[in-house]
Amino acid sequence: MADDCIFCKIVAGEMPAHRIAEDDRTIAFMDINPWTRGHALVIPKEHTRNLWEAPIAALESTIAMAQQIATRQRDRLGCAGVNLLNCTEPAAWQTVFHYHVHVIPRYEDDPLRLPAKPLEVEQDELAEAAEELRG
Ligand code: 5GP
Ligand code: ZN
Repeated sequence: MADDCIFCKIVAGEMPAHRIAEDDRTIAFMDINPWTRGHALVIPKEHTRNLWEAPIAALESTIAMAQQIATRQRDRLGCAGVNLLNCTEPAAWQTVFHYHVHVIPRYEDDPLRLPAKPLEVEQDELAEAAEELRG
């Protein structure tokens, strides 16, 4: 458990949360500021800062529980789709530094819109980035 981590405090039961699922490694609970009805967070119980630092086992158990929650959102809340979101570091909007995945139910009439406008790029720019990332 990391000092001053609100999600570790939720895991330990020291801070209240609306828990919806739990297993040995992982818990899921409602986001306190939901983007849509049913917006949930899934976290490993073990503290780890974000995607760059999380052990593979924590990533696996988190994504497996995210799928379970997404299925409940479809079957019980009647959502028409789901977005999974992870934010890693402040440049990518991370505000709580305990790895988590947002599981956001989407409804045909919900207010969420894509925040990004695609860059206008040439083929050689794609190729250049691909070369840097390959293998
Ligand atoms: P991030 O921006 O790090 O990806 O997302 C952090 C999320 O945690 C935000 O959506 C925020 O609403 C949620 N959050 C922050 N503090 C609390 C809390 O104390 N309890 C719960 N349930 N969610 C929280
Ligand atoms: Zn933590």
